[in-house]
Amino acid sequence: MKFNELTVNSSRLWESLMEMAEIGKAPENGVSRPALSKEDGKARDLLTEWIKPVVDEMMVDEVGNMFFIKHGTKSDLPIVLSGSHLDTQLHGGRFDGVLGVLAVLEVLRTLHENQILLDHGLGLVNWSNEEEARFCPAMGSAVFSGKLSSSQVLDCRASDGSHYGTCLKQIGYAGDRLPSSLKMKAYLELHIEQGPVLENENLDIGVVTGAQGQMTMDVTLQGVAGHAGTVPMRLRADALACASEIISQCRSILLKKEDGVMTVGTMDVEPNSRSTIPSKVVFGMDIRNPHSESLEQLKNQFTEAISSISQKHHCTNNVEIRSFKPPTEFDDSCIEVIESAAKKLQYGYKRMPSGAFHDACMVNEIIPTGMIFTPCLNGISHHPSEYASQEQLFKGVNTLLHSLSELCRK
Ligand SMILES: [Zn+2]
Repeated sequence: MKFNELTVNSSRLWESLMEMAEIGKAPENGVSRPALSKEDGKARDLLTEWIKPVVDEMMVDEVGNMFFIKHGTKSDLPIVLSGSHLDTQLHGGRFDGVLGVLAVLEVLRTLHENQILLDHGLGLVNWSNEEEARFCPAMGSAVFSGKLSSSQVLDCRASDGSHYGTCLKQIGYAGDRLPSSLKMKAYLELHIEQGPVLENENLDIGVVTGAQGQMTMDVTLQGVAGHAGTVPMRLRADALACASEIISQCRSILLKKEDGVMTVGTMDVEPNSRSTIPSKVVFGMDIRNPHSESLEQLKNQFTEAISSISQKHHCTNNVEIRSFKPPTEFDDSCIEVIESAAKKLQYGYKRMPSGAFHDACMVNEIIPTGMIFTPCLNGISHHPSEYASQEQLFKGVNTLLHSLSELCRK
């Protein structure tokens, strides 16, 4: 068989995914496997047991990131790394993260049984605590990329008081600093899209160009409470009327742009009584855009709108920026390798940005990085009904197999 025709084993991949989903199984196909829980420990044990026959080396770093390496034929070449995360949200699904880990396992198994050796070594990584559902901020990949120190993460406490370092020891995955001799050429991550675009356009593969930047802010509007029957409309300082005009104005500003999304997902109203004019409103806004300049421009346009509309409503305002993550741009050569693999396999694909943040965005800071998306049902994720078909995943993992092999050969 020619290498170009090599594919992974679709049913073996599916069975591994379903068996892993038994660990932390929750009602209605859900999975609850928060980082460093007993279940996370069991998932790590199972991965280790599965992968042992097809790799040469295993390492765990100080914060619990796991690396499994199959040596290449040229030991002086840097390795190509790929993976994702085995931890899930509290009532998460069976595919977010775990797909990207078990996909690399399937790639390694396929190469092994076909006795294919590559020039560069190939490594699988399981990043610790991607979801930050329990410990935050404490992403394992953030330590790898130098964004957080290992002590910051090890000392992180969950809301129930649990200590990252202690929990990591309890599940048996506290390791050591990676050897400085370990050099990496590129990182690829396969992930479900977690959005509806590919399914909507009936495509097999998303060639991810980068990830949207994100800004979150809290807006406080202060008006004056009053009797809903006695205060004439023109004399009111109604904080909620002010908020609703601001939200609709910001939406129209955003809709004039080509890209980007905004969401107001929280709102507190005081005194929150049907027959009293609202005196105070605090709402939380999330703005995302793939371009740095657009994100900056939106921030300025939104603050201007907030200030002029507040004046009109006789309210005062305060805007607090809570977080700012600049957009990620993935490496051109990784994007091209993925695109030509999808083309060679004759899959329907498109270039697209990621709406969500991933380990790959962290790794991209220090290693040339690329990402592959597969469609998922109705774009639903972080929920038990998260689903992708065996056929969709097969195509995603084949694209990963051929992309990784290409990178390991060049
Ligand atoms: Zn994920």
